[in-house]
Amino acid sequence: SRFLLSALVIIIFSFINEYYRYQSHSKIETVSIKHKQDANTDALTDIPNRRFLEASYFPYLKTNAGLLLPASLIMTDIDHFKVINDTYGHDVGDKAIVHAVNVIKKALRNTDVLCRVGGEEFLICIPQMGIDKATKIAEKIRVSLQETPLILEDGKPLTIRSSFGVSEITSSDDFSTAIKSADDRLYKAKEQGRNRVVAF
Ligand code: GH3
Ligand code: MG
Ligand code: MG
Repeated sequence: SRFLLSALVIIIFSFINEYYRYQSHSKIETVSIKHKQDANTDALTDIPNRRFLEASYFPYLKTNAGLLLPASLIMTDIDHFKVINDTYGHDVGDKAIVHAVNVIKKALRNTDVLCRVGGEEFLICIPQMGIDKATKIAEKIRVSLQETPLILEDGKPLTIRSSFGVSEITSSDDFSTAIKSADDRLYKAKEQGRNRVVAF
């Protein structure tokens, strides 16, 4: 019976050992998955970042070009954002960025991708959509941002406006050209007085 008892103790201990080994292993796995998500996700807004576009999304579009192209790009940059920061402080600036993201998201389908590619600059990718429809969506977002102010702590509304450049990706070797076009058009929108959409 002494032998049985010690065998039992050994079995119990190995079970305990195996249990903790499994626990720590799955913890390591969770941590590494989280790191992967972190590398592709913007911490402030919880949306994908530029790295996600380059490392994951554009390759995905290229691989599935036949199905997903033409796609459209909408590049947008909040107008006079520096004034918001300077007037209300960096924290309100952060809230304004998160607010803008929430307003933009409402105009998109879940197959569209919204990325934060700069401080107050965002790139929206819309698969299976030509530039005419995408321009209408950009205009809808522009109006919706203007009409949905961020409500500050004292209850006062802070209106956020943004400028937009729209372009189209027609073939899978068109990505950098399309990004440049969207960028150039966004710059034109700024030059022409901001709070507008430019698509040509
Ligand atoms: P424009 O209409 O030409 O786009 O002018 P702007 O003031 O929006 O652009 P500018 O590039 O002069 O200023 C952008 C500012 O955004 C500068 C930077 O300090 C601020 N910024 C960048 N990232 C963040 C952030 O995460 N939070 C806050 N609060 N500010 C940020
Ligand atoms: Mg700006
Ligand atoms: Mg900017």
